[in-house]
Amino acid sequence: MDHDMDHDTFRREAHRVVDWMADYLATVAGRRVVPRTTPGAIRATLPVAPPEAGTGFPDILADFERLILPGMAHWGHPGWFAYFPANASPPSVLAEMVTAALAAQCMSWQTSPAATELEEVMLAWLAQGIGLPPGFTGVIQDTASSATFVALLTARDRARDAGVPLDRQTVYASTEAHASVEKGARLAGIPEANFRRIPVDAAYALDPAALDAAVGADRAAGLVPTAIVATVGTTSSTAVDPLPAIGRIARATGAWLHVDAAYAGSAAIAPEFRHHFAGLDAADSFVFNPHKWLGVQFDCSAYYVGNVEALLRTCATTPAYLRTAADPSVVNYRDWGIPLGRRFRALKIWFVLRSYGLEGLRARIREHVRLARAFALWVDGEPRLVRMAPVPFALVVFRVTGGSPQADDAATRALLDRVNDSGEVYLTHTVLDGRVAIRCSVGSWTTDAAAVRRVWQRIQEALASTTSSPPAR
Ligand SMILES: *Cc1c(COP(=O)(O)O)cnc(C)c1O
Repeated sequence: MDHDMDHDTFRREAHRVVDWMADYLATVAGRRVVPRTTPGAIRATLPVAPPEAGTGFPDILADFERLILPGMAHWGHPGWFAYFPANASPPSVLAEMVTAALAAQCMSWQTSPAATELEEVMLAWLAQGIGLPPGFTGVIQDTASSATFVALLTARDRARDAGVPLDRQTVYASTEAHASVEKGARLAGIPEANFRRIPVDAAYALDPAALDAAVGADRAAGLVPTAIVATVGTTSSTAVDPLPAIGRIARATGAWLHVDAAYAGSAAIAPEFRHHFAGLDAADSFVFNPHKWLGVQFDCSAYYVGNVEALLRTCATTPAYLRTAADPSVVNYRDWGIPLGRRFRALKIWFVLRSYGLEGLRARIREHVRLARAFALWVDGEPRLVRMAPVPFALVVFRVTGGSPQADDAATRALLDRVNDSGEVYLTHTVLDGRVAIRCSVGSWTTDAAAVRRVWQRIQEALASTTSSPPAR
């Protein structure tokens, strides 16, 4: 016999899950941020074969708590300073619950008219919220990686339609661009030899003179610049590529300009950060992730294009079984990206924007930036550490200093391991200029001044035990 849930059972178990969720969120700060586990340990606790017989839900939930939860990393922990945040506000969690209950597959207008129309309005709201220049139309993609891939496919097709074969198409991004850019170019069929990594300046921003030279050399060699990807807020250090100069080069060569602001785009809801996005009007496409820093939980990436027709040219298909009478007068988002099936992601944007208003979201971004800058000042005042990059947003990158570069690399790694060992906070590393560095990324939904002080205390304690010099006071 199986255990299908009648309505009363569902209601009871759903209440049990909601209570579990509320308890989890109320107590997450007391857990280790990342688990102490070894590869394969969790797998080894699970049966190798699927069950023949069904099990009642209370037992399944108990097993989840016993077997799975201890192996989870807690991205919503106030001590989460790793990577970039994937912050989830409570209203976005509630939206995902509703979305799950509806279980709508929103590939076309016909398959859920409200999902499509809410998405149209939400992408327009977000565009206004971040001060996007006029002329952009948006669509939700699962991730920035997918959006950047779609941008490169569209750029490739535009060049191909103009008679440029793939082996003459070139793509440009800085040495600090996200790995998804090179991957997207590769998946789009651009030969690896035609992908250009452009050098950066001392602040890790793309050097436009180097871009200009690379583009000029390629054109002289009979190649055709197809796409330039600029980043506002690079992954390693949140460097800001100079959009106005890059935009001029893109316009002069006819290359597609895609702007990747996966992390930093959210900051543009506060006007004081908009100067980093000046020149965006020259872009053909733009992506930012409300799922990183705007409280709209993963996954939700906002992709904007100037020319919807070019996007449709690349992504639209209309097999007979998908045609509907409404097609001429509606948006069918299945034609705006790679998958056919689409989750109802607009609902969580709506819940979040209505819960906090732009003002509430701005206040959070500002507080994260304020805390990061305070942390940066502590780093600057600590002679055993050196800051590696400016702090335009809420990421501080630093490393141990005072020894040989190799010794400082090793000491930086040791410092990171020791701080993370505490289980109270979690940071991750990067490599800048060939040197190991620690990233302190402030942006978890629940983080606060106390959590930032705690990470600094753990760093001070770890410094005392990993460096030879006496502890500073
Ligand atoms: C995080 C990040 C990405 C990748 O984002 P996904 O949505 O996980 O694909 C791309 N570019 C930059 C600059 C990022 O910070």
